[in-house]
Amino acid sequence: MKLINTLAEMQALKHPEGFKIGFVPTMGYLHEGHLSLVDASKKDCDLTIVSIFVNPAQFGENEDLDSYPRDMERDLSLLKARGVDYVFFPDAQMMYPNGYRTWVEVEGLSDILCGASRKGHFRGVCTVVLKLVNIVKPHFMYMGDKDYQQQSILRIMLKDLNLDTTIVGCPIVREQDGLAKSSRNVYLDPNNRQIALCLYRALIQAQKEVRSGILVAETLAEHAAALIESTGARVDYVKIIDSRDLNFPNEVNEHSRMVIAAYVGKTRLIDNMLLVSP
Ligand code: AMP
Repeated sequence: MKLINTLAEMQALKHPEGFKIGFVPTMGYLHEGHLSLVDASKKDCDLTIVSIFVNPAQFGENEDLDSYPRDMERDLSLLKARGVDYVFFPDAQMMYPNGYRTWVEVEGLSDILCGASRKGHFRGVCTVVLKLVNIVKPHFMYMGDKDYQQQSILRIMLKDLNLDTTIVGCPIVREQDGLAKSSRNVYLDPNNRQIALCLYRALIQAQKEVRSGILVAETLAEHAAALIESTGARVDYVKIIDSRDLNFPNEVNEHSRMVIAAYVGKTRLIDNMLLVSP
C-alpha cells in the first residue's frame, strides 16, 4: 500500500492501460461502513484508492471540525489489511491554499434536509469531491447509502459537469443492535448510545406501519418523530423522500425512503431506510 500526501504525486500517478480505478473518499476514523466501500471497490476494480481528508469546508462554524475523531495510524493499518493500493491524505492548506475562491453548488437540493440545518455543508462537500475526482480521476466512486442526500447531490454534480466517474451506492453497515456505524458514534456515552438506537427503531416502525397499510407520508413521519422525541433525543428532521429525486411524496411507494436526522445529546446522527423492502 502506497501513501501519497502531495497533489503532484497523486496527479502524476500512471495506471496500466484499461485498469478500472475505484475511489473511496473518507474523512478517516474508519469503521466497517467505510471498509465495506473498500471491499466493493476491490471486487469491481483493478485498483483501489482511498482518501482521508477532514474537509474544513463542509463544517459549519459551530460544528465539530476541531474535535472530529482522527486516528491515522489505525486507519492505515485497517486499509492495508483490506488490500488498498493507495491512500491519499492531503492537508487543508494543499486543498485550499491562500486565495482559494472556487466553490461548487448543486442548486435546489443543497438547502433541504441536512442542508437546512447545516448551511454551506453541501457546497463544501461538492467542492472537495469535485477536486478529489479531478485529482484521482477514478472510474467508480464508492459511497454509502448512509449519507443518501450527499450521494444524490454528488450524482447530479458529476452528471451536470460531464465527469466520467460513476457513483456506486453501497448499503448502510450497522452495529448488531441496528445503530448505523458512524465515526461520530464515538461521541456517545453509554446512556446516549442506547438513546441513539431510536433512529433505527423509528425506521423499522415506519416499515412495519407501511406493511400494515399506513401509506400517508406525513402520518408515518409524525409517528417516527414521536418515537424519537419520546427517548429524549431531539428531531432535526424526519421526512419521506423519493429515492430517485429527493422529492417529498404524499403517499409511500416502492421508491420511498424515510430519512432522519436527530440530536442525541450534542451529537447529530443521521439514518435512512427504504420503506418497502425491495
Ligand atoms: P465519512 O468518512 O463520514 O465522510 O464517510 C465516507 C463514506 O463512508 C461516505 O460515502 C459515507 O456514506 C460512507 N459511510 C459512512 N458510514 C457508513 C455506514 N455505516 N455504512 C456504509 N457507508 C458508510
